[in-house]
Amino acid sequence: MADFDSIASATVAVGERREPAFVHDDDVAAATAKLAGFTDRHGTRRPNVLVILMDDVGWGDFGCYGGGVAVGAATPNIDSLARRGMLLTSAYSEPSCTPSRATLLTGRLPMRHGLQRPPMYGEPGGLEGEITLAALLSDAGYVTQCVGKWHLGENRDSQPQHVGFDDFYGFLSVSDMYTEWRDPYFFPEIVYSRARTEWVENQAFNKSFVHATRGGDVEEVAEVTIPVLSELDQRWCAYSEAFLRRMAGGEEPWFLYHNTRGAHFDNYPHEDYLGRSPAKHPYKDTIIELDDIVGRLVAVLEETGQLDDTIIMVTSDNGPEMETWPDAAYTPFRCAKGSTWEGGVRVPFVASWPGMIDAGRVDDGIFDFNDVLPTVLTLAGAADAVPSDRFVDGIDQSSFLLAPQGRSNRKYHYYWLGQSFSALRCGEYKFMLNALGDDVVSQGDVHGTGGFSGVFHKFPYGKLFNLYLDPKEQHSYMIRKLAYQQALVGGVRNHLMSFAPPNQGKLVVGLNV
Ligand code: CA
Repeated sequence: MADFDSIASATVAVGERREPAFVHDDDVAAATAKLAGFTDRHGTRRPNVLVILMDDVGWGDFGCYGGGVAVGAATPNIDSLARRGMLLTSAYSEPSCTPSRATLLTGRLPMRHGLQRPPMYGEPGGLEGEITLAALLSDAGYVTQCVGKWHLGENRDSQPQHVGFDDFYGFLSVSDMYTEWRDPYFFPEIVYSRARTEWVENQAFNKSFVHATRGGDVEEVAEVTIPVLSELDQRWCAYSEAFLRRMAGGEEPWFLYHNTRGAHFDNYPHEDYLGRSPAKHPYKDTIIELDDIVGRLVAVLEETGQLDDTIIMVTSDNGPEMETWPDAAYTPFRCAKGSTWEGGVRVPFVASWPGMIDAGRVDDGIFDFNDVLPTVLTLAGAADAVPSDRFVDGIDQSSFLLAPQGRSNRKYHYYWLGQSFSALRCGEYKFMLNALGDDVVSQGDVHGTGGFSGVFHKFPYGKLFNLYLDPKEQHSYMIRKLAYQQALVGGVRNHLMSFAPPNQGKLVVGLNV
């Protein structure tokens, strides 16, 4: 049998409505043995799950990703967690906040869950009707806690306490919506106009951060003015610390989904962090604060004896928002948030579980946000809980994380730009059919002013990038690499066929999307 190869090897079907996966038998055996060892040590009590999701923080911001002190904000706590766990270099979010967050919680692509861009200022629509990781873990006996930014719909049935969380303490939307119209630097024409201020105040969006318990209505904690906003990450961290202390020694496992306010624009760091970074810049001061928060949550787990029982994942929901530079993250990749260039969707991802995930691993295997749901369910002993009544794009990556030198179970990453299929990655190659670009048809601006304001470029024959030789996606390699073309086109075709209505198996899906 030939050696495994991420392009040449075949995937296997894992379910009727599931993305096919690589199954590495030796990795699966090693992971299964580790999980059996955990059960031997802990009895029937399942592991806890802590997901720390940051906002608009870039692939390159943390020291362990080559940023840190080199870009004006050291991140010793995150770096330490990465050394004690696993650092993924090819983890993928979706291009912006809401699609990414919904994908993480449902295991499904935005084209399936329908949240294709962030809802703003009380727009209707959200996570209602989807099955979340929180609901599935709750069914498996977990206490489920959501803290911080939600941004998956403000309407009642899309709120966290109605989609699987026992408790929610945070805000329903996104940082800038609470403050941009209050800041005379950004919005003088609103701040200095009584009529416009009242007009915004009367718009039907929730202007507070709130508390809610399962099945109930949200209760206002405080209106999110600029001074209140600057304190949110501290208040939310304190709430999560209290939760972790309360859970220590309890019978039930828990899932804490901790979403930071930072470092989404506009950053108003807490007064204790103003000027704390060598850069002295609000974005960088916020990174220092976020790193402290990771350190505090890990310290509570350690102090309360829960660290070995807890899977920790630290990541960010999309790449840098370059339209607000310099209040923006750092990425070494092309373009920014809002795009399907690597800069928009390649995010930092650190996974730690002492004694279960080998320390010091760095791996470039593909890992998608939609993989979190099936992976966590397997680690939680609830693999069978993955929904079967709808298509789940996520792949169980538990053997990738747990086996020594485990290999990714994912062959393809699919990039979607709203409702347009944009690109496919397989191995080190990325086949791109369309993308956001500058308003001049050019590859010149590699960094991209971003993101949301570019024009839609369609590449009739597709472009092919080698992400190892050309991580900034500047040189289409297609014409020298035609041997890959049919395999890549086939990957696209199979993916698009997964959206075909039932009983239309002969539907011809072209690439002209
Ligand atoms: Ca975001």
